[in-house]
Order: sequence, then structure tokens, then C-alpha cells
Amino acid sequence: MNSDLLITNANLITWEDPNRILDGYALLLRDGLIQELAPSHELETRYLEVERLDARGQYVMPGNICAHTHFYGAFARGLAIPGAAPDAFPQILKKLWWPLDLALDEEAVRYSTLVCLVDAIRHGTTTLLDHHASPNAIPGSLDIIAEAVEQAGLRAVLCYEVTDRNGKAGAQAGIAENLRFIKKCQQEQGKGGGKARVAATFGLHASLTLSDETLQACREAAPQGTGFHIHVAEAEVDQYDSLAKAGERVVDRLHRLGILGPDSICVHAVHVDAKEINLLAETGTWVTHQPRSNMNNAVGIGEVESMLRAGVRVGLGNDGFSNAMWEEWKAAYLVHKVWQHDPRRMSALDVAQMAIYNNSALAGRFFPGSPLGVLQAGARADLIFVDYHPFTPLTFGNLPWHIVFGFHESMITTTIAAGEVLMKDRQLLKLDEAAIAARARQAATRVWARYRANVKE
Ligand SMILES: [Zn+2]
Repeated sequence: MNSDLLITNANLITWEDPNRILDGYALLLRDGLIQELAPSHELETRYLEVERLDARGQYVMPGNICAHTHFYGAFARGLAIPGAAPDAFPQILKKLWWPLDLALDEEAVRYSTLVCLVDAIRHGTTTLLDHHASPNAIPGSLDIIAEAVEQAGLRAVLCYEVTDRNGKAGAQAGIAENLRFIKKCQQEQGKGGGKARVAATFGLHASLTLSDETLQACREAAPQGTGFHIHVAEAEVDQYDSLAKAGERVVDRLHRLGILGPDSICVHAVHVDAKEINLLAETGTWVTHQPRSNMNNAVGIGEVESMLRAGVRVGLGNDGFSNAMWEEWKAAYLVHKVWQHDPRRMSALDVAQMAIYNNSALAGRFFPGSPLGVLQAGARADLIFVDYHPFTPLTFGNLPWHIVFGFHESMITTTIAAGEVLMKDRQLLKLDEAAIAARARQAATRVWARYRANVKE
């Protein structure tokens, strides 16, 4: 399936560090990797027989990476929450997400995933770190998501969110699903010589729904070298709960229980103090920032610049919002300014640091062997074509501001992952969008009916 492909007439944005923009270049893709990049005329004369894809002067850059998402949340789109609107984050969980995740069956897991993957291909996001919950369909749920990811041709890191909110058996089933899937992925990665599209980590919901006992059981069960993917201090309530339950703040608690480390991801970290920021930096723990979600839930905005300055590796996720990562760039760029009443806050360089360099380093831990998120010989061939015509000079130095003020996902015409063309000239080549949407609407209708039975007004 991966025969050689020569992409010609491309203006490359390499996202090396430092970044380079190379006009009139070609890329030779082979075995899912970038084999060679050089001026277009050179490779065109050397590879006369190779199938070509003419980029027609478009920008060609690495596919975007989303450091935290929830495919299972797709069916929340357009859903009416009965009764009074939730007035704070705990009510949003109780009136929306928890009755909704209880309503998911296997068909809903598959189609909520597929609609997100269609969206990701259309919007140029080629690697996603997902955090899954379907308490009434736990065993095998990660296999269903993995199958959809393979079918779509994208790359994803999957986990199941362990929580105590559905009793002991629910927590045990969540632990078992993570362990089963981690082992399966380790075996596949061993066999595949670095070609696996799906990887695993260990999912945990959040400190506020997890006892010490369950967190200890997760730590003991997780294979050596496995990290955790957990929501941290998204709202103040997570801190209040941890202080009441354990007499310590959330990050201190997770540190005591062995959850932090260079393979672990703390999602949000909106309400962490200076000591917790230091702990995240010292342990090399990743943090992900999701500004659209933070605004939507009105939970506040984390001290992201302070975390970056303290040496915390902060990436950018979308928390289940559209897989259009430049929208997340724009939200990050704007919200810190209004939150701090200071137009100097959150430079586009910091946004690029999170969305490009930190996200690719984070994703790279799960797909070792070949770099990802960069155009260079030997890197994974995950690429997008962007039909952008700058009307002011565009350089590697001002590119992050062009992305914030000029780029739009509607300009993405072609998406390639592991050397395979998934969308060409805006036509999806592997997935039937209309058929998937039709099946998803049927599944969503059943999910909405069960949600209405679950939700308490
Ligand atoms: Zn989340």
C-alpha cells in the first residue's frame, strides 16, 4: 500500500528547530517515511518513474497533533441539557458528560470515533491522544477505537479513563481494559518495526473521582515505563476534593502515588500553585492546555506561560472540540490576553512551542524510532497541503503570526499520514463521510434517548 510517492512543487514548512521555509522543493515518501527532500527539479529528474503528487506551490507542512481529546464526546453536538443550565463545572459533569458516557454502546463508540477522524483528516490533524469513557461498554472499547483509527489511516494514542464513580467493578473493568490494550500495543509495536499507527497509555479520570486505593492499584498494575493520562485541577473542585480527601493538593497527591513522570500527561492544570508547577517540571510530567474547553466550562485559564518558564513541557489539546488545531492556536493566543488584561501575554512563539515542538516530542514518546511532526529525511510522512497565499512577507520568524491571523483549516486540501494519501484536493479517499455521518446520526439518536433517561434534572 505504501509505494513511493514524489511530492513536487511544494513550499515546505519543515518545523525543524529552528524552522525553515524551503520554496520549490520536493519530498520523496517511502515506507511511511520521508526518504529525501531537495529542490523539486533535482528529485524530478532523479525519480522519473515514481508516482507524483503536484503540490502546485502550496505550503506543505507536518500534520497537526492534538495532545488531548475525547472522541466519545462527539454526540454531545446539538444535545439539549434538560432543566436549568449547569451553573458550574461539577454540574457540567453531572448533567452532561456522565449521563452521556453511560449512554454509549459499542456502535456509538465506533461512530463517535469515526466522525472525529473524518473531522481530523479534513482539518489536517494526523496524530491524536484520546481519552475514552464508555462505562457500559468497557471491555474491548479501545479495540473498537483502534480499528477506526486504522481504517482512517491516522495515528492515535488511546487509553480508558479509570474512575470510582461507577463503583468498584467499574474501576476494575477500566484498569483491565487499559492493561489489556497496553500489552496488545506493546506486542504490535514489537512486531511492526515502528509502523504501528496506534499506541497506548493508562487513562485516569481525575483526582476527584479516584481513591488512593484505586490510584495505587493502577500504579501497581501498570507495566514498567507506562505513564498516565489524567485530568488535573481543571476546576477548583478538584483541589477542594483532594485537600478534603488526602490533606494535600492534587499534584502533590499524584506525586505521592507515583502517577507523575516523563510519560505522564496532566490535562489542564488550571488551578495549580507554584509548588505544584515545580513538581510538574522536576518530574518531567507533561501538561496539556485546552483553551476552548476552559472557556466553555468557565473554569479559568491556567498559568501556562509560568509553566513554560518553569520548564514544564506544555502541549496543546482540544478536549473534544473540533480537530481544527489552528482554532486552538487562536484561542490560546487570544484568551490569555483578555484573562490577564495584557496584550503582551501569550506570544505566538509560545503557542508554536506548545502546538508544534512540545506536541511532537510528546507524541514521539509513543511512536519511537522515527521523528514525527517535522519535515526531514527519516521522519514520518504525516503531511498536509495548505493553499495559503500570504499578502505580506512570510518568513520562518513570523510564521506563527501568519498561522494565528491568516491560516484556516479550510485551506487544507490534502492530508497524508504514514505516506498514505487520506484526502486529496479535499476529497476523502479512505472514509465515506456521508455514510459515516448517516450511521452516526442513528447511533446518536439512540444515545440521546438513553441520555435523557440517565440525566437528573
Ligand atoms: Zn478532557
